[in-house]
Amino acid sequence: MARPLPESTPARPLDVPLKTRRGVGPERASQLARLRIHTIGVLLLHRPRRYEDRRYFCAVADLQLGKAATARGKIVALGVKRWRRGSKSVFEFILDDGTARLHCRWWNLPFMEKYFRQGEEVLVYGKPNSLKPRTIDHPETEIVKTDEENLVHLNRIVPIYPLTEGLPQRWLRSCIWQTLQECEPNILEPWNGLAVPASAGSRPPQAAIPDLPGRADAVRMLHFPEEMSDAEIARQRLALDEFLELQVAVQRRRKNLLANAKGLPCAGDNHLIKPFLKELGFPLTEAQTRVLRQIRRDMSGSHPMRRLLQGDVGSGKTAVAACAALMALESGFNVALMAPTEILAEQHFQAFSHWFRSLGIRVELRTGNRKTSNIEHRTSNFERSESANSALRVPRSAFLTIGTHALIESGFTPDNLGLVIIDEQHRFGVAQREKLVRKGRYPHLLVMTATPIPRTLGLTLYGDLDISVIDQLPPGRGRLKTFLRTADKLPQVFDFIRGKRKEGRQAYVVYPRVEESDQGEIKAVTRERAKLEKEFAPFQVGLLHGRLGPEEKERVMAAFRANRVHVLVATSIIEVGLDLPNATVMLIENAEQFGLAQLHQLRGRVGRGAHESYCVLVADIKTAEARQRLKVLEETTDGFRIAEADLKLRGPGELLGHQQSGLPPFRFGDLSQDGSLIERARRLARQVGDTAEKT
Ligand code: ADP
Ligand code: MG
Repeated sequence: MARPLPESTPARPLDVPLKTRRGVGPERASQLARLRIHTIGVLLLHRPRRYEDRRYFCAVADLQLGKAATARGKIVALGVKRWRRGSKSVFEFILDDGTARLHCRWWNLPFMEKYFRQGEEVLVYGKPNSLKPRTIDHPETEIVKTDEENLVHLNRIVPIYPLTEGLPQRWLRSCIWQTLQECEPNILEPWNGLAVPASAGSRPPQAAIPDLPGRADAVRMLHFPEEMSDAEIARQRLALDEFLELQVAVQRRRKNLLANAKGLPCAGDNHLIKPFLKELGFPLTEAQTRVLRQIRRDMSGSHPMRRLLQGDVGSGKTAVAACAALMALESGFNVALMAPTEILAEQHFQAFSHWFRSLGIRVELRTGNRKTSNIEHRTSNFERSESANSALRVPRSAFLTIGTHALIESGFTPDNLGLVIIDEQHRFGVAQREKLVRKGRYPHLLVMTATPIPRTLGLTLYGDLDISVIDQLPPGRGRLKTFLRTADKLPQVFDFIRGKRKEGRQAYVVYPRVEESDQGEIKAVTRERAKLEKEFAPFQVGLLHGRLGPEEKERVMAAFRANRVHVLVATSIIEVGLDLPNATVMLIENAEQFGLAQLHQLRGRVGRGAHESYCVLVADIKTAEARQRLKVLEETTDGFRIAEADLKLRGPGELLGHQQSGLPPFRFGDLSQDGSLIERARRLARQVGDTAEKT
């Protein structure tokens, strides 16, 4: 039997803590720790924020206004000027490179003086803010030393790293150079240890990426590229490795599930769905029916369902969820449905209670305010159909629990959980999703989202899920028109809303949310509400935001549902899920503050009935770019096009909402442009995984 290694010896050389390295004392180690660099491996992946081509310098005489450049020269004069009794200061040195003189200035940082001496040779990088005299304020600097290390810092393309206070650029560069010299042989391909490529007939995974360097080469090129283009090639290789790691984990999770978990028999026998569909009031769309067939197949399969249901806002995901729930309930299993907000949970509670009443199924609501942890618990308990016909009886009184995050807290301990449904999945992280799933013994999982996730992102995020798409809206929807306006048109917009109100319709007026806890924003909606009350009198104006208590929220929503409140002033808390067909106008102020996908979600609150609907985006548009961005919404209601645009413009974090969706932070990968790398990583992960299995 192999003896375990002594604890102080890390298994892999790259896991060696930096503080044990020669030349890294406690001070440097703690500075590196501030950059979250603790080991050699992480140090070697510290990504330069830019590169400087120090094979050529710009003559000071040739410096151009506003154009970043690096110059090299000698300090011929330096000193600090102070005024206002020493409270203000400027430190300046004058650099001479033989072609001209350059003033380098630092405002109110008098201690800079101690870093420089007259006669020293210095490199400075920055944008001249004046040419008479030539001046750069707050340039980046590096003192040229005449030692053997100059081959690291000069006459080559040189990395410029993110730093932290007190950590010199030059020291870090030397440290990385040294580490690279010693440790390059320890940088292994990620599939080492997973696969044995030498086995007969299998190609080494590297062969799948002939156009990219090996990992060790990539790390060297990242820090010390021979040409500027090398840095991008290195980035691609390292990004591929990041995606690969994620894909291997995702595929492993899936394989484990397939190997270990047996699917609970939840396909049902139609005895509840049939009457449900009859009472529903509309036939399901073809897309809904197709998706339900997939779900039924999954829930009768030998492994638990792991399915993502994507459908644009208003495509009717709730009815699909209800049918899926009924399949499990028919089979005698309990169901949990989690929604991201109290308002949405409440809405679902009302809808499902209404639908399931005649079927005799108990529906339970669990919401709770974390701070006070007073879990609200409501049940709509209907008389169970006491039919003598046992085929019609609900076996073992299976029931549905609807709730918010409260469901993942410890108080909720369902037994016999057959199906977990998560609505508006993008608002939850993967960890939260798993927490709820683990309350049962491998229940089926259906997650639903209206955020159309571009393919690249989907492959990364949801690689372990099967995907169904509802690509069809229910018929008979009034059209939704979107208009982009500037704030000076508000009076006309208000007129328009009054006109619609006279026809009996209702409206939302939305102000940007920064954070739900942001007092300033809450004040803003409160103030606007007072203004709008005057504007729209005698019509009733309600106010809704995240800081209201649950009862108050429900009181406002009930009044709005009952058409006693006609205009609802709200933060983006109403973004997800709300379904009120009579609300046909949405005015969004400061629309420029929102992401496109979020605006698309928001406007999805209108256009849900048979009436024509309108979304007016009022935005402070200063640039043509900002205008172009919002115009996308005027031009299309195709959620996928909008999401693609949003991903490009704002990146995945914004698209997925602030509640990050379990994506690891990528150091090198860029989800908005690395689609083909992600595809390759997926294929590689399969190849690597398969090989690993065979060995
Ligand atoms: P989302 O997919 O955004 O969650 P909902 O499930 O809230 O959409 O459905 C939007 C509206 O469309 C609801 O009022 C719902 O009753 C209605 N609806 C759903 N399916 C159909 C259908 N097949 N035919 C007509 N209306 C439908
Ligand atoms: Mg919904």
